[in-house]
Amino acid sequence: MDTRKTLLRKTGKAIADFDMIRDGDRIAVGVSGGKDSLALLDALLLLRRRSPVRFSLRAFTIEQGKFVRPVEPVGDLLSERGVEWTYYVDEPSLKLLEDQPGHGCDTCSRFRRRAVYDVASKLDCNVIALGHTADDLCEALLRNALFTGRLSALPPVTSSRSGDFRLIRPLVYVSEDVTRAYAEESGIPITPCVCSHKTGTVREKLRAFLADLRQDNPHVLENLLAAMGRIDAERLLDKRFLGDPPATGAPENDATMLLSPEKLARAAVAIDSASCQDVDYAW
Ligand code: SF4
Repeated sequence: MDTRKTLLRKTGKAIADFDMIRDGDRIAVGVSGGKDSLALLDALLLLRRRSPVRFSLRAFTIEQGKFVRPVEPVGDLLSERGVEWTYYVDEPSLKLLEDQPGHGCDTCSRFRRRAVYDVASKLDCNVIALGHTADDLCEALLRNALFTGRLSALPPVTSSRSGDFRLIRPLVYVSEDVTRAYAEESGIPITPCVCSHKTGTVREKLRAFLADLRQDNPHVLENLLAAMGRIDAERLLDKRFLGDPPATGAPENDATMLLSPEKLARAAVAIDSASCQDVDYAW
């Protein structure tokens, strides 16, 4: 695999598919010190050279007191690439760490989000690029479905609540196999965060689950990703997307029928008796 080519092709496709970057955009790239965001920055720099669309790039790193090594090498890397870098020490996050060392991800990310908007605003940028990958999307899909009862993942493009920024995730088609290989091949210095060593998290379990499935079917991740772009809403249970129920006595149309209580009961029996193994849901 030509890693660089794959990274550029998939990033370029996501940018085009979701109209992520527009003429005159001033993009702030969130660089966390990990392989994904640095691969994202490199991809954007390379794509900009070939793009007819004019846009500027800056990078920033939010210090929340969780890096296990100094982040200066990230600054050196960015200055080699001629990218202006802002290292933003977020005092409220440091105070949070002092006052509540055991705080969870929800609080941490809320603090980080506020800091990200602060920096982007100071940098006079209108777009914030985040390094979430295809793996992150798939994990978010499973996590939301399994733990929050919602079928959703992460938006490739969205706006901040204030409407001041467009948030883009150009790596949505890029798997971490690619960013990992790219970082290794390019000698990108990685500055891990203390949380990367956390064990027993839902995320870690989902990663292990997907990795296990991929041993037998290497295309599991691609299939999940493709599924997010090919929703068969009529075979789900959200009534907002279901058509009118067929008239009584009308022949059943497999693609449009609603689930009757009898069918649900039959499905429950089928699932139960098959112990959730390879149940054919197209009944
Ligand atoms: S994993 Fe660590 S850095 Fe990431 S959101 Fe959770 S607490 Fe914050």
